[in-house]
Amino acid sequence: MPRPNPFRPFVPRPDQMALAPATSGNAINGLGERAPRRARLVYWAPNPDDIPHGAMQRWFYRAAPADPEVLRLRAERQALLDAPLPPVAATPADLAPEAWTAGLDRFVAEGLADKAGVAEMRPDWAFEGQDIAEPRVVMLGVAHDYPAIATAPGQPAALEVMRQYLRGARAARAVAAWIRGQGWHARCVAGALTGPLLMIPPALACGFGELGKHGSVIDRDMGASFRLAAVLTDAPFAPTPPATHGIDAFCTACRLCEQACPPEAIAPLKQTVRGVEKWYVDFDRCLPFFNQTSGCAICIAVCPWSRPGTGPALAAKLARRADRRAG
Ligand code: SF4
Ligand code: SF4
Repeated sequence: MPRPNPFRPFVPRPDQMALAPATSGNAINGLGERAPRRARLVYWAPNPDDIPHGAMQRWFYRAAPADPEVLRLRAERQALLDAPLPPVAATPADLAPEAWTAGLDRFVAEGLADKAGVAEMRPDWAFEGQDIAEPRVVMLGVAHDYPAIATAPGQPAALEVMRQYLRGARAARAVAAWIRGQGWHARCVAGALTGPLLMIPPALACGFGELGKHGSVIDRDMGASFRLAAVLTDAPFAPTPPATHGIDAFCTACRLCEQACPPEAIAPLKQTVRGVEKWYVDFDRCLPFFNQTSGCAICIAVCPWSRPGTGPALAAKLARRADRRAG
């Protein structure tokens, strides 16, 4: 028997729901659509007036009492993103793909990021109406402090998310600066506000693991407890291969996030979204709770893969099981 959910039944605040648009976020996301199409920006728009849920996005910032640490982190991240990158060196370095990879790995070894990978850019990884000219994307993962994220929902978890967005922005800037110093073009994409790039598909393509039932990427080592940042570039990195660990099948049997989600936004089965059968979180159900709790994060906190040290052991167990079945 699952434990009773302390946040159910969830009743959204009327002042928030008064701002809900007539358009469903699930419709914007293409839930139930059988034909493939580009994703549309649904939330975290740089200009909230550009999206139907813009008034709810503004409400998110008003809902929690002003916290000096939140304001400091937000201002620091914005200053970082606004500051110009160093110029591109005049002569492009002629490095082998392995040397580019080794250079990128250095940022992980030095602790600026916790994971890095490179994917060849695809047109459908840009939001509708946006074009990305760069042929490659460097993905960077920065892990949350698990004890902090495990307190979700609430301000300590929200602060940890903001700290990692800031760390992701720092890592992206450092990688972009390095690439530009080598004479190749690079620009940063770092959250929380959405840039032109969808973050999840390239992360899945370059070794960050699989999409979980809770709609977040599950990495073998960080679980779902991390944030992504990216660098768009023309530097000739070799692509990082994808990595699967049996997570997709594991999610079919596991129900932890479904049961923990206060507004019951996580469906037990995959659904069709823009022509693809995949795990999908009901945007219209999730958003009011997410907004009222400074970003929720319950689903990534309860995911067993997020517990430090658990992912590698789980992946090894699933690999042994797959080997037994194959043999
Ligand atoms: S909690 Fe369970 S079902 Fe949900 S994403 Fe994690 S492993 Fe998958
Ligand atoms: S973030 Fe959304 S989907 Fe995840 S537990 Fe919270 S309300 Fe549910």
